[in-house]
Amino acid sequence: MSAPQHRLLLEVRNLEKVYHLNSGFLQRIARQPPLNLRAVGKVSFSVRSGETLGLIGESGCGKSTLARTVLRLHEPTAGSIAFEGTDITKLSHREMTLLRRRMQIIFQDPYASLNPRKSVEEIVGLPLSIHGIAQRGEIRDRVVAMLESVGLKSAHLGRFPHQFSGGQRQRIGIARALILNPSFVVCDEPVSALDVSIQAQIIALLGTLKRELGLTYLFISHDIGVIGHVSDRIAVMYLGDIVEMGPTRELLRSPKHPYTKALLSAVPQIDAGPKRERIKLTGDLPSPLSPPPGCKFHTRCPFAIERCRHETPALRNLEGDRMAACHLVDEPR
Ligand code: SF4
Repeated sequence: MSAPQHRLLLEVRNLEKVYHLNSGFLQRIARQPPLNLRAVGKVSFSVRSGETLGLIGESGCGKSTLARTVLRLHEPTAGSIAFEGTDITKLSHREMTLLRRRMQIIFQDPYASLNPRKSVEEIVGLPLSIHGIAQRGEIRDRVVAMLESVGLKSAHLGRFPHQFSGGQRQRIGIARALILNPSFVVCDEPVSALDVSIQAQIIALLGTLKRELGLTYLFISHDIGVIGHVSDRIAVMYLGDIVEMGPTRELLRSPKHPYTKALLSAVPQIDAGPKRERIKLTGDLPSPLSPPPGCKFHTRCPFAIERCRHETPALRNLEGDRMAACHLVDEPR
C-alpha cells in the first residue's frame, strides 16, 4: 500500500493510558493500595498524510488501547494528540464529536460490532443521520454508493448482519467507517477473525479504498506477515511501549530490537536479503499490572545483561528514519 507521503496528519507525544483498577469506594474504605494498569506508557509517534503505519505486537501489548486512546474513545491519562495541527485532547465532547467524522475505526470482529437488529441500510446510514450530514432521501443513495465501493450491492440494503459471511460483514464495517469521508482510519485487526483467503480480499479492498479516497491508516495486527504487506512504516509494541520503529523494508530486512527479531523469526524468510538471526520467543507476555523493571523485555530476551534488569532503554534515533529501544543496539551480535 505504498503511497506518496506528505505532511504530518497525526502527531502523538508522550501518550499515556493508565487504568486505576481499585479506585472504587469500597477499596478506598478498605484502604487497599492503588493498583494501576499502565496499558500505554508515554508513547510518541507520527503518521504522515497518505501513509499506512503498521502497529505490531502480541495480544495484550496495548495496541488496541493505544489506537482507541488516539481516537479518544478512551480518555488519555497524559500526553498530546495533534490531528491536522489541533491537540484533540483539549477539545470538548461536542467538538470531538464533530471531529470524529474525520477519524474513524474498523473493528476486529465485524459480527460483534454490528447491531444484529438493524438492517445494512440502517447500520451504514446511521453515521449520516447522527451527524445530520444527509437528508433522509439522500441517505439511501449514499449508502448504496458506499456499499458498491466495498463490493456489496443495493440488494443487500434490507438484510441483517447474520445473513452475511464474515468477509461480507467486514465489508459492512468498512462501509460504516468510510461513509463520513474520514481522512484517518484505525484498522484494528481488521482481518484477524477471517479465513486466510478472505483476509487477502479485505486487505486488497482496504488498499484500493486508500488509493481512491486518499486515506491514511493506522493498521493494527499481531501478524507480522500482514503488517509487512500493508505498511509503509512499522511500529513494534511491547507491554505498552514502542520498542522499534522504521520504514517497512529496512525494519524487516534488518530488525534492531531483539523482540522484533523474535517476531520475525516466527515467519519464513523469503527475501534475498542477509540471513536473519533467529530468536525463539519463550514465555508469556508479563502482566502489565506488574511489568518487569528496567527493560520490560529482559525476562524473555536472550541477550539481556545486568544493566537491562534495572535501567530502562530509551527509544533512540538511529540512521535512516529508524528508532529502537535497546541498550545493545550499537553492539555487534
Ligand atoms: Fe534485551 Fe537488554 Fe536490549 Fe532489553 S535492553 S532488548 S533486555 S538486550
